This record gives sequence, structure tokens and C-alpha cells, in this order.
Amino acid sequence: MTRSTETLVARRARLLGPTYRLFYDRPVHLVRGEGVWLWDEEGTRYLDMYNNVPCVGHCHPRVVAALTQAASTLNTHTRYLHEAVLDLAETLLATMPGELGHVLFTSSGSEANDLALRVAMAATGGTGIIATRSAYHGNSQLTAGASPVLAPGVPPGPGVYAVPPPPAARDGIDVGEVFAAGVRAALGQMAQDGVKPAAIIVDDIFSSDGVFIAPRGFLGPAVEAVRAAGGVYIGDEVQPGHGRTGVMWGFQQHGVVPDLVTMGKPMGAGHPVGAMAARPALLEAFGRTSNYFATFGGNTVSSAVAKVVLDVIADEQLLANAEAQGAYLRAGIETLAQRHEPIGDVRGAGLFLGVAIVKDRRAREPDPAATAAIINGLRERGVLVGGATANVIKVRPPLPVRQDDLDIFLETFDATLSALPHR
Ligand code: PMP
Repeated sequence: MTRSTETLVARRARLLGPTYRLFYDRPVHLVRGEGVWLWDEEGTRYLDMYNNVPCVGHCHPRVVAALTQAASTLNTHTRYLHEAVLDLAETLLATMPGELGHVLFTSSGSEANDLALRVAMAATGGTGIIATRSAYHGNSQLTAGASPVLAPGVPPGPGVYAVPPPPAARDGIDVGEVFAAGVRAALGQMAQDGVKPAAIIVDDIFSSDGVFIAPRGFLGPAVEAVRAAGGVYIGDEVQPGHGRTGVMWGFQQHGVVPDLVTMGKPMGAGHPVGAMAARPALLEAFGRTSNYFATFGGNTVSSAVAKVVLDVIADEQLLANAEAQGAYLRAGIETLAQRHEPIGDVRGAGLFLGVAIVKDRRAREPDPAATAAIINGLRERGVLVGGATANVIKVRPPLPVRQDDLDIFLETFDATLSALPHR
């Protein structure tokens, strides 16, 4: 670590306390970003293969221009009339199926999920929530309680039932049936406990569970079971939304329209914006008992930013790019897997891939030590990736990534795998 990095790490610990975490054995001190590239304080360049928040690329000129233009004109909230929030709502809803007729704005994914859970409870009269075993849905009391990945530090909230994540798609496994069986068991337990179901909330790409989105349509039977029991389906699109998987929304990969859709991270390409889209009937029930207002949700500046992000995704054809480059990336990793035994599985869709690292491909035993060595080894060679679980590497570059960028990643991944100590 350089002296300035050491000083910053110590200063952070002194000022921010013990709860924040840094990536990498040698933390990275970034000072600038552009497109898919990041620079540290010494001028070293990193290929960003991890960050989905700057979905249109770091510091996209149109996003910066919309932000500065709006900020230098007016910044106020939804209790005054203004077109910006309506232009955003119109553009956003136009990307969704017609059943999703309304949208409310927040400043984060946590806030969007918190609101969705409250709307689900109000609309169903239930309190039971189903979430997957390693799900993360946010940091409010309600969403942290519905984020089993935080256990045991944060115990499940009242009425939260954790279910096993979907299994990896392999020959002979009916992924939809296996996943739905876990959901039905949770519904059965709720009935025994006298808890009325409110919702199943799933990250539509199951990112913190290890990245599961195949085969197409597997979520259907689980959602059907929840609906039959009186609950609703909340599609958490904070990770897969805004084009990440090569289509606009992750739920499109499942062929099911959620009752509530939550958004965040990429929505403002780095500016704090979130949202919850809803079937109007659900909001009617919520609206009978509650007003909704969030000071910053839907403010004029954030609305302008979120709108231009949608425009850039459309104008630069980033969905098609995510699909095409995602296929190239996946094929490249699969080719590397022929020579590198630790690559146990490549999963995902578009530009969101999970690479499982294993000790032995037949036994599929997870190898957390090699996973950490690969993530840190890539960082030392100028490529940033992160972990989804202890043995799944998350590869998730900004959407405008090009083939020559991916070639750099694949060469560096190859070199990093080759440098792993022989076991
Ligand atoms: N849902 C999912 C699936 C997430 O990955 C996250 C953030 N990691 C959130 C919700 C919470 O979003 P935020 O950090 O903006 O509150």
C-alpha cells in the first residue's frame, strides 16, 4: 500500500468507524472515471468489469450535462408542479408492460423495497414475506429484515421466511419446480404459524445468492403459488434492471409481470435515484390509508438525470450491446474454462455473469481462497471485479463495454488463473 492509501484507510477508520468495508487486499483509491475506465491517484488505469451503477459508463457527458443543466436551473420536489418527474415517469413506464401503470420515486433501492413491502402489506392485509436465503434487499429495518444474507448479525424480521435459492441449471434439474417447492414449503409454514402471506420479493437475477437467471421462465411456478395464497410478487430490479441482462428488465427473462417493481443503482448512473412501479390496484389500497411523499424522491434534478439515462440506453442501443458483448464475454470465459479447472460454472445473462470457482469441477466444491486470490490478482493486473458469494465472481461491466475491452479482461483473467498456485 502506498503511504497516501495507508493514510486514507486510517482516516476512514477514524472518521467513519468500523462498519464500512473496502474491496481488495490492497484497497483502490480512485480519482477519476470515464466510460469503462477508472484511474487511481498514481495514474494507474483500471478496466471496470464490476460496476453496474454507472450503467451508461462513468461520467457520461450527456448525464453530466443533464445534471448540471437541471441543478443550475431549479431543484425542488414533487409537491410543486414540474414536467421533469412526469417526463421520467412516462419514459420509464413505457419500458414496462401495460399492467404497471404507476410509479413512485425514491432516492435508493432500499427505500424502493421498503415502500414495496409496505404497499404489498397494505394491499394484501398480510405480513408474511418470502425472500431467498442469501438475498439482499436493503438497509432499512424492514428490508434488512428481509435480507437473509445479513444473518446472523441482522436476524430475519417478523413474518420473513427464507427459502433456498434456485439451483444452478443442469441437465435433469427442473429449476422452476425445485425453487417453487421451497416457496410452497414456506407458504405451508406460514399457514401453520397463522401468518397471512403478503409478498415474495426476489432480486430477478438472484445476484447475492450466486447469480441465477436460467432457464427462462423458472420463476413462474413460485410466483403462481404465492399469488394463489393471496400474496404478490415484488420484482427487485436494482441489480438486473436498466438493460443489464440484454433486455430492459430482469423479469422479462422470467416471462412473469411483477405486481410491484423496484429500481435503484443504475437508474441515475451514480446519482441517487430509486423507484417503485406498481399495478394501480395495489396503490389504490395503499393510497386509502397513506399519503406518499419523499423529499428527494422525484426531485427535478434527479428526474432529469434518470430520464437522460433511459435516453442514453435507447440512443446508444445499450440493450443490444449488453446482449452481444455478454455473449462474447461468456463464450470467452467458457473457452478459458477448457484450460482452467477452477472455473466450475458460468451463469447469468447479458453483461451480468457469475463465475463459480471450485476446487474440483466434478465435486463442485466451492473454493473461496482461490476466488479471493483471483479477485485480488485481477485488481493487481488492472481489472476490477467483485464477489457475489464466497466462491462466485461477479462480472458486470458498464453497458457500453466493447469487444476490445473484453479481450483485455479475458487475457488478464487467463493470466490470473495461470498464476494461481498449483494444488
Ligand atoms: N436490492 C438489491 C438486489 C441490491 O443489490 C441492493 C443494493 N446492493 C438494494 C436492493 C439496496 O439498494 P441501495 O443500496 O440503493 O439502498
